[in-house]
Amino acid sequence: MDDEADIAVVGAGAAGLMAAIWAGRTLGASGRVIALDGAKKIGAKILVAGGGRCNVTHHTVDEGQYAGSTPHAIRKVLRRFDVPDTVAFFKALGVELKREKTGKIFPVTDDANTVLSALLGAAADAGVELRHPWRVDRVAREGEVFVVRGEGGGAAIRAGRVIIAAGGKALPRSGSDGAGYAMVRELGHSVTPRVFPALVPLVLGKGHWITGLSGISAEVTLELRGGTGKRIKAFTNSMLCTHFGISGPAAMDMSRYLAGARFEDPAAGLVVNWLPGESGDSVDAMLVGLGRTTPSKWLRERGLPERLSEAICAAAGANPAAPGHGLPRDLRRALARCVTQMPLPVVGDRGFTYAEVTAGGVPLSEVDLDTMESRVCRGLHLCGEILDVDGRIGGFNFQWAWASGHLAGRGAADGQKIAR
Ligand SMILES: Cc1cc2nc3c(=O)[nH]c(=O)nc-3n(C[C@H](O)[C@H](O)[C@H](O)COP(=O)(O)OP(=O)(O)OC[C@H]3O[C@@H](n4cnc5c(N)ncnc54)[C@H](O)[C@@H]3O)c2cc1C
Repeated sequence: MDDEADIAVVGAGAAGLMAAIWAGRTLGASGRVIALDGAKKIGAKILVAGGGRCNVTHHTVDEGQYAGSTPHAIRKVLRRFDVPDTVAFFKALGVELKREKTGKIFPVTDDANTVLSALLGAAADAGVELRHPWRVDRVAREGEVFVVRGEGGGAAIRAGRVIIAAGGKALPRSGSDGAGYAMVRELGHSVTPRVFPALVPLVLGKGHWITGLSGISAEVTLELRGGTGKRIKAFTNSMLCTHFGISGPAAMDMSRYLAGARFEDPAAGLVVNWLPGESGDSVDAMLVGLGRTTPSKWLRERGLPERLSEAICAAAGANPAAPGHGLPRDLRRALARCVTQMPLPVVGDRGFTYAEVTAGGVPLSEVDLDTMESRVCRGLHLCGEILDVDGRIGGFNFQWAWASGHLAGRGAADGQKIAR
């Protein structure tokens, strides 16, 4: 026999749990909220986040840290449940948060389990029935209700309202494999023409010298340039050399902008400045005065690791061990260029398997931003990564999940109360 609920939540990741908690709290004891998740293990992404410490949010969150649907729409949602709200929400659940020097906010326990346990406890306290593994195959509107059907048949759940929080396609083994897009399309929504990995490591051409420096990192400025050389975007942060190419915050933050630019302009590419703040001219002027100091030593003195310093010199064709006063003018200039604007031949990225988030999704123009209710299918609410919003590394993506999940949960419960 079919089961009945006031609200069914599809997906119990960060956004879905938040939505279920607020739906349960808002409906009160007389309401019934059922949250369904296809994964055997709930909250896999919360547990792996921030290297197992869960970077819950960031001290300074604004729409400028996100891409996707319009900044104005993103701001509207973020303002309705801001960082102090997130901190207060977790504090009330007994989770103390701390801010680190970078502005990132973590639980004081440095343990993501603290965050997941608190969310699961809050969901139970709000009366949410959590069912998993319960993979949703289809959500259909049948008259006044929604019918949620699971993979392989069996009993369906009839619900007055449905919140779809099935995430995107990043880290598919966690349970988020893009199935949500087919569900929302069937209910009348569109999905952006491009859905692609974001916050993903980048792959360099085979045999590039950087792939021989795996494990070495440096603070750099990574710049995205169009085919004409026009500067499109830049990030100054740590970049990690890996056996396949580049990773670390600078490369991850840049990945969605590079992929996005290349859809329109295949000649767009990355340029790295190994000494942020310096220009070709300023480095050239400093190299002129090197005297007996080798260029490699000079780079080390500026904070670059030894092997990286040597490799940069070699890439410019300069002998890293030869005294600087012997550098011919052309070589000196070539080295200054290599140090400050070295092109990185990125051939692709590591795909959804290694991506932290998904770029693209349901446009925010298709939801009411006060309640996250669909404008094309009444009674349906959407939140989290399934929407066309992706943030930088640093806690911004969870903040989006908390904010949009909170609005969806409250919005669905308020709507359902009126309908009852
Ligand atoms: C390795 C890694 C580290 C990260 N670290 C951070 C960090 O420190 N800070 C930060 O802000 N962000 C981080 N992120 C990003 C963050 O995890 C996501 O932005 C966030 O989890 C999105 O929440 P969501 O609930 O929208 O989607 P998800 O977390 O993807 O949850 C969607 C849920 O829906 C379920 N589901 C999908 N399809 C179905 C279906 N058909 N039926 C039933 N259930 C279904 C899935 O099993 C899943 O549980 C990280 C991501 C990764 C991959």
